[in-house]
Amino acid sequence: KESSGRETSVAKIKVVVRKRPLNKKETARKEDDIVTVSDNSLTVHETKLKVDLTAYMEKHEFCFDAVLGEHVSNDEVYRVTIEPIIPTIFQRTKATCFAYGQTGSGKTFTMKPLPIRAAQDLMRMLNQPVYRDQRLKLWLSYFEIYGGKLYDLLSERKKLCMREDGRQQVCIVGLQEYEVSDIQIVKDFIDKGSASRSTGSTGANEESSRSHAILQLVVKKHVEVKETRRNNNDSNESRGKVVGKISFIDLAGSERGADTTDNDRQTRIEGAEINKSLLALKECIRALDNDQLHIPFRGSKLTEVLRDSFVGNSRTVMISCISPNEGSCEHTLNTLRYADRVK
Ligand code: ADP
Ligand code: MG
Repeated sequence: KESSGRETSVAKIKVVVRKRPLNKKETARKEDDIVTVSDNSLTVHETKLKVDLTAYMEKHEFCFDAVLGEHVSNDEVYRVTIEPIIPTIFQRTKATCFAYGQTGSGKTFTMKPLPIRAAQDLMRMLNQPVYRDQRLKLWLSYFEIYGGKLYDLLSERKKLCMREDGRQQVCIVGLQEYEVSDIQIVKDFIDKGSASRSTGSTGANEESSRSHAILQLVVKKHVEVKETRRNNNDSNESRGKVVGKISFIDLAGSERGADTTDNDRQTRIEGAEINKSLLALKECIRALDNDQLHIPFRGSKLTEVLRDSFVGNSRTVMISCISPNEGSCEHTLNTLRYADRVK
């Protein structure tokens, strides 16, 4: 592992953990903060009971490419995770950034500002003379996977389907892509899309925790559209040739994958789908890391959709979000073990 080039700032796979601060509720309940961070490692202090019910402490130590404590700002998260990747997008790289963790651990808080900052930096580069002459443009799309189905978040949650073209490229039929050249428009799209994420009668956070939201920024070389377009459905390349792209994925709450014994049938089905996709994702990242030729992306809708980001020039950033409170200990350990497998 040491020799895999992970040390360089543009390592192929980077696994980062972010710990959020205790929130008001947890503080009011006088819950302990059981996670201590030092440099790129962290320790979880788990309280356990012996058979005679006396308590003892078990320490779990983990080491990652970076560990970001509760005082680390979103700007710093961007500098550590995405900023080093930005120039590679102009060199035919497909990058993916995942936020993984239990519901309430800070996935959305962490993820939301990243595509905005990335778009800002990408636009700045597009305007440099070298790139301006190449007529490169930035495109944005935003969709979600809910119960194994795809919905366009920028198009009234229109149901989408995926197919492979003859060249083994995945294509999401009907997905709307918008050219963006102004950061305010990027923000508006993100707000609009985020607002249309799955919200059931049970409340917004509850439902969005069962879906994966995928925001893609694609740099394309502009080509004149000829009337003799090869294929109407060839959406990915219809308005230009893809140079590189970066996908930001706010994953479903990791605890939802355990909803497989719930009394509600729908919840069980969704839980099974989430479990399947998170396992498949882990397997794909591990296969990437081992430079395996066969990437098991067919394991789930999520990994199938991201297929073209798992082959060729790829970069993967996994941001594992954890809650610091005692009550989340088990989920926190699960998240850290998942991240540990990926790294
Ligand atoms: P998730 O998307 O994983 O369910 P959220 O991102 O919605 O979790 O975070 C849950 C709550 O915690 C939100 O109110 C959010 O503002 C807050 N929060 C999360 N991470 C941080 C952080 N690093 N600093 C301050 N508040 C945070
Ligand atoms: Mg969220």
